[in-house]
Amino acid sequence: MNHPRPYRFHLAIILGMLSVILLGGSCSRQLPSQYFRMITFGTVMELEIIGVDRNKAQAAYQTLQQDFQFMHKAWHAWDPGPLGRIDQAIADGRTIAAPPSVLPLLRVSQKLARKSDYLFDPGIGRLVELWGFHDSDLGPHAPPSDEEIEVLIARHPSIRDVRIEDFHLSCGNPAVKLDFGAIGKGYGIDRAIERLREMGITDAIVNAGGDLRAIGSRAGNPWRIAIRDPDGGSIFALLPVIGNEAVFTSGNYERNFTWKGKFYHHIIDPRTGRPAIGTASVTVLHPDATTADAAATALFIAGPDNWYRVARQMGIKYVLLIDTEGKVHMNPAMRKRIELQKPVQDIHVSKPL
Ligand code: ADP
Ligand code: MG
Repeated sequence: MNHPRPYRFHLAIILGMLSVILLGGSCSRQLPSQYFRMITFGTVMELEIIGVDRNKAQAAYQTLQQDFQFMHKAWHAWDPGPLGRIDQAIADGRTIAAPPSVLPLLRVSQKLARKSDYLFDPGIGRLVELWGFHDSDLGPHAPPSDEEIEVLIARHPSIRDVRIEDFHLSCGNPAVKLDFGAIGKGYGIDRAIERLREMGITDAIVNAGGDLRAIGSRAGNPWRIAIRDPDGGSIFALLPVIGNEAVFTSGNYERNFTWKGKFYHHIIDPRTGRPAIGTASVTVLHPDATTADAAATALFIAGPDNWYRVARQMGIKYVLLIDTEGKVHMNPAMRKRIELQKPVQDIHVSKPL
């Protein structure tokens, strides 16, 4: 979420076009396929609906567009809005009536953060901000000093400090600042899929630059999802998806800057207050997009040595992790399913999840 636009657009459009090309090959000509594109969550969101007429698809597109606009506004990490009001109250030590637009996302985030051992922790907004990632135009800049990081880490900001009683929200730790950048898009895509189902749509895909959820099929064929090589723009693998599945990737290439020859990316390890070390990208496949999004971030931070344990805790059944040395880690079910598009030297297959 909230990435510099030109780059994200470029990437999202390439991935989007790729999926359309890939999907196109396996499409039945009889079934109408409607394709829409909108700009939301700081990225290009694509919607493809199969088997309904133009009017119905158009109505669905408009509804989704309104829903996404609402969610994007409500959960934006630094533009003024409901989240800003919560963060101000936390900073002031005040109890407030929890804004209804944020409450469900906050609750599910707390649950997923706990399951991830707080590697995924939307309470670390101040750390993300300290690194300069709360800025739409992310340019090269000096990283924060060790002292600045240590001061903040010593205050242990975490979403577990946020208390919700009835509809009142309070937090005993003023160092907490909420940032739903690692889950908001997934949660939004789940709401979109629910909306489509409510409208009687059974076969569709909602795709935000390669992070997506699909339902049903493409005229009986699976949706084929392209997974990017973290080392460049090419396709690393294809993943067939059918029924009801979300595919989410967290990568160090998504949002980053270089300063004095050193590379800094946007996925922060809450234990160190610094960009997580050891992982280049993680792809998670899961029935719901909310969990997939949070888990991709958590497993990225868990890294090559600990992803398996955290995946088990979070109930994840399909993982692909590419580490910074180019070694590929997967569980057996993912290995069976993934279609690698390039030769891979070093594949490490874990125990079953
Ligand atoms: P993307 O949004 O690029 O798909 P992620 O889902 O991994 O990537 O989200 C990364 C964003 O989440 C960061 O830009 C930041 O706003 C926020 N974030 C960074 N580190 C964490 C963390 N450990 N837990 C929760 N959110 C984080
Ligand atoms: Mg995420």
